Amino acid sequence: MSAHTHAFQAEVAQLLHLVTHSLYSNRDIFLRELVSNASDACDKLRFEALADASLYEDQPNLEIRVTFDKAARTITISDNGIGMSEAEAIDHLGTIAKSGTREFLQRLSGDQKKDAQLIGQFGVGFYSGFIVADRIVVESRRAGLPPEQGVRWTSDGSGQFTTETITRAARGTSVILHLRDDASEYLSRWKLKSIIGKYSDHISLPILMPKEQWDKDKGEYVLLQEWEQVNAASALWTRAKKDITDEQYIEFYKNLAYDDEPPLAWAHHRVEGATEYTQLLYIPSKAPYDIWNRDKRGGVKLYVKRVFIMDDAEALLPVYLRWVKGVVDSADLPLNVSRELLQDSRDVRAIREGNTRRVLSMLEDLAAKDRKPEGEAWERLSDDEKKQAEADAGKYSRFWAEFGMVLKEGLGEDFANRERLARLLRFASTHSDAVSVSLADYKARMKEGQEAIYYLTAESQAAAKNSPQLEVFRKKGIEVLFMTDRVDEWMLQYLHDFDGTPLRSVAKGAVDLGKLQDEEEKKKTEQAAETLKPLLERLKEVLKDKAKDVRVSARLVDSPACLVVEDGEYSMQLARLLKAAGQ
Ligand code: ADP
Ligand code: MG
Repeated sequence: MSAHTHAFQAEVAQLLHLVTHSLYSNRDIFLRELVSNASDACDKLRFEALADASLYEDQPNLEIRVTFDKAARTITISDNGIGMSEAEAIDHLGTIAKSGTREFLQRLSGDQKKDAQLIGQFGVGFYSGFIVADRIVVESRRAGLPPEQGVRWTSDGSGQFTTETITRAARGTSVILHLRDDASEYLSRWKLKSIIGKYSDHISLPILMPKEQWDKDKGEYVLLQEWEQVNAASALWTRAKKDITDEQYIEFYKNLAYDDEPPLAWAHHRVEGATEYTQLLYIPSKAPYDIWNRDKRGGVKLYVKRVFIMDDAEALLPVYLRWVKGVVDSADLPLNVSRELLQDSRDVRAIREGNTRRVLSMLEDLAAKDRKPEGEAWERLSDDEKKQAEADAGKYSRFWAEFGMVLKEGLGEDFANRERLARLLRFASTHSDAVSVSLADYKARMKEGQEAIYYLTAESQAAAKNSPQLEVFRKKGIEVLFMTDRVDEWMLQYLHDFDGTPLRSVAKGAVDLGKLQDEEEKKKTEQAAETLKPLLERLKEVLKDKAKDVRVSARLVDSPACLVVEDGEYSMQLARLLKAAGQ
């Protein structure tokens, strides 16, 4: 049988040069690429068999097998999918069909170092086999063709490849990698299995590897004829919600997040529209120890058609939601998408917005159920509903205690959702020691004629409670929110009002209680200012390096004096913080 020699398309030659001459930051991806090609081939067979079931021949069970041969230094990835005819092998393996790969090549500059890194992150499909192999042999037979019309395709990754016709009984494709000298680490069952576990665990087909046994005479492990499945093949998120139990969701979370505690909530949706994707998002019940590290982001794993792409896909959520865990699976993204490409993809932007909205509505839902219904509302519930209400009660408070400070970052980061985020804020106040007062609660308790939401920033709740600034508010029964988190000052720069009502610091400038201040009091203050003028002048003189102004105030009831800052200036708390930070 004669072999034919063919030249690769120019772009393939260029790509192969890069693959074989660049250092890879992650060589393992070759297996991910070849396994997902095998999985695609099975999907294609399944699809074509819808119209012609005879394509299954006598083998309806689709599967992928991965094995290796230490002596021959080969790794073989086999599937019983659609296979390739000789013409298809020449066409598909000799040219770059995918527009994504072409774009990728165009993006590569002459900067060799940068290129190497870019390629490392970028899957290059079938050709990534040449990362570890100096010769690849592909044997295939297309479903529906007779055994005599098989094909053997061979290339050493330079400019050419050869094909010849072979007889092959088995339908489908085997890719045989002849490993380079520096790739011996892959001649290990453990190594291959762990790569499959990392990247291909959720491929919906079984991936099989031969079992291994210790051979006393040889003094090494030998492979058996017996095969065993090495991937979970569960892809939980691809299943219908109604077929998944709470226990399964929780178990999945624990594996995903390496967290022993069950999550507070999750949401599982298939999002349809211009960009289609599946999202399975979890709200953990505990913050990780490094929650403040804004560089460590992204607990959401990105899959493309069940193939794992990356596990800290920061582009899929804004930074202030970096504690959310989950999975996004999209069929609209290319398998070889890089981090750089992710950043400017329109589909990814749509996914990020969709994820953000989903997380916010999960939180709104938890917040709504945080307090158990009382009285009549409680009596109206069925037994099951009561049980559920009891389980849900307090979850939002727990969430807020763990993640509230991080969520506040969102007010400065996510303008589109500022209003929704403001509703999720919780504070302690003069009316509540628990950090449970929402701005809506506050508004509902506002006094008649009260025109602002008053707050006090302080280092701690204890300091806030004892502040002389509060006296007049206490006397009048006006609630004051305590802002005692590090991020509160920063947040307040973005939170000027809520639902049409301005937020006002009790420690800034002259407290203007507006209509709440009665005429008599106003008069008294004015009179006092008159009579005390000489004293004030004297105090101003004495304190001239320390205080900008000294004035009579209506804010104090019991204390003789207090410090305030001018309107529009840093508050004392922020000034302290900046000073501590050396600014
Ligand atoms: P992609 O998978 O993105 O199309 P690849 O470079 O990975 O690009 O593969 C190129 C093409 O080679 C595939 O589109 C497919 O037509 C063919 N091919 C690769 N592997 C197999 C396989 N195991 N079975 C059948 N066809 C395959
Ligand atoms: Mg591929």
